[in-house]
Amino acid sequence: MSDLPPEPSRTPVAIVGAGPTGLSLALALARLGVRSVVLEKRSAPGIHSKAVGIHVRTREYFRLWGIEETFLREGTLLPDFILRNAAAGGKPLLSFRFPLLEKEADTPGLLVLEQSETERLLLAAVEATGLCEVLFDAEVVELSQRDSGVALRRREGGPPLQADFVVGCDGAASFVRHALGLAFEGATYSLRPMLADVRLRDERDQLPWPRVFSASRGLSFSLRIRPGLWRIVHLARREPESDEVSEEEVGDRVEELLGPGPAEIVWASRFRIHRRASPRFREGRVLLAGDAAHIHSPVGGQGMNAGVQDAANLAWKLAAALRGGDRERLLDSYDVERRAVVVEHVSRFTDFLTKVFMQAPAPLRGAALLLFRAVLACPRTRKTILRRMSMIGSDYPASPLLDAHESAAGLRLPNPLLHGSDGDNGVRLYNLIAPGAVLLDVAEKRPFLTEPPIPQVLRIGPGEWRDPSGLLRGILGGRDGYLLVRPDAHIAWARWDAEGIAEATRRALGEG
Ligand SMILES: Cc1cc2nc3c(=O)[nH]c(=O)nc-3n(C[C@H](O)[C@H](O)[C@H](O)COP(=O)(O)OP(=O)(O)OC[C@H]3O[C@@H](n4cnc5c(N)ncnc54)[C@H](O)[C@@H]3O)c2cc1C
Repeated sequence: MSDLPPEPSRTPVAIVGAGPTGLSLALALARLGVRSVVLEKRSAPGIHSKAVGIHVRTREYFRLWGIEETFLREGTLLPDFILRNAAAGGKPLLSFRFPLLEKEADTPGLLVLEQSETERLLLAAVEATGLCEVLFDAEVVELSQRDSGVALRRREGGPPLQADFVVGCDGAASFVRHALGLAFEGATYSLRPMLADVRLRDERDQLPWPRVFSASRGLSFSLRIRPGLWRIVHLARREPESDEVSEEEVGDRVEELLGPGPAEIVWASRFRIHRRASPRFREGRVLLAGDAAHIHSPVGGQGMNAGVQDAANLAWKLAAALRGGDRERLLDSYDVERRAVVVEHVSRFTDFLTKVFMQAPAPLRGAALLLFRAVLACPRTRKTILRRMSMIGSDYPASPLLDAHESAAGLRLPNPLLHGSDGDNGVRLYNLIAPGAVLLDVAEKRPFLTEPPIPQVLRIGPGEWRDPSGLLRGILGGRDGYLLVRPDAHIAWARWDAEGIAEATRRALGEG
């Protein structure tokens, strides 16, 4: 007899792939009390540093899932991202000062952490929930879908795993996407960037970063992932002939960015980069998320973050569908909302940065830098760019759940500092929200609701929480009113009259 526990043959949600997207989805589902099984073809968690930047919006979800503190402890938070010119002794070229977003976001800045660490922390959090089984050495090779559910088969055989829903979080070469017969439309850039991680054991490790070195033959960039470990990126102006990366090439790039000296190469490789998306993120009971659904240029570092944010949008909708909600509206809204954000925001933004800063010849790049600096000098555009970089500027459009006639539908919920009645130091709004939907009852002049349509209510007004930022009242046009916030921290609607809000809540949350 085997000592191993029996593997499940039925689960509400089966997630294919234990990358950052799949693990985020498992965690978000568990926070809503939903069980899942994650099937991963690798035999162990990921060890590659890959994506090294975590943006504010992603951390807001980590906060809601109760894991942000751990990430802040393990990573390096850059409140000011000051790009330095390595050719001019590290003189600042461009400055992105994220604290400008402090009114609407907590500890704004870029969190630098290797993807392998992100995956490790997510996996630990998922396992601690007790609601998810993560199976390694479990490659999914067959998917069949019926009205009543989906069956998955693994390469090593055994009985199929039956699931109410399957989510393909299985990366750019997604088996699930292929099984659905969905294309991966888009383009491959002519660029083939060289990426390397190197260890430095001398005083160069103390140099200010991130650094850039621009020459007619190409552009190099470096960032310190953690003390002693640096990411080096190089884009040659001319397509390199070989995919091979020599030690000498890495050494040259390290020297121009950081100065002469030894550098131990941890890994180095040349990559093709793409801008592609599936035409649909949903087919019946099967959904796609993360790289399986869309991939982007790594410039701007939004790819992995977009996958985590897909998971936040999808998890509560799966939970609601499993509770008997309106499956079609819930899951179609995932497709509409996330495809819009991914295509309109993430893909366009990373494509723009790639074309302007990476593909352009050196003189044009210089002109673009000057222009960018001028744009950043204007407070309004500076804020827009910082919000876009932090991924807090992506509101959702109208969808089967978000009614275009409702005010504020789809807006990201800001995260202002609220104060209690006893003159405390304040607490951020997201810290006060438990998993699930919340109604913000914003009242200065009228009594608070006595019979709210959902259990979780936060009162903003006399004797309760105060919002000195005025952001919440601002969404309500400066008047008393109600904001229904979905579990993914986007506003479903703003209303001023309590009449009909029970029905409007049911509709916005996709209840049957
Ligand atoms: C070198 C490099 C640098 C990068 N740098 C950045 C960056 O700076 N910023 C950024 O945002 N992004 C970056 N990316 C992209 C980022 O790594 C991806 O966007 C991110 O990994 C996507 O996460 P995911 O969970 O959707 O997919 P993946 O991380 O690809 O995870 C998919 C998982 O599914 C598993 N799987 C695949 N097929 C099956 C199957 N049939 N059955 C079971 N399991 C399966 C895979 O083994 C894998 O573990 C980089 C990528 C690379 C390669």
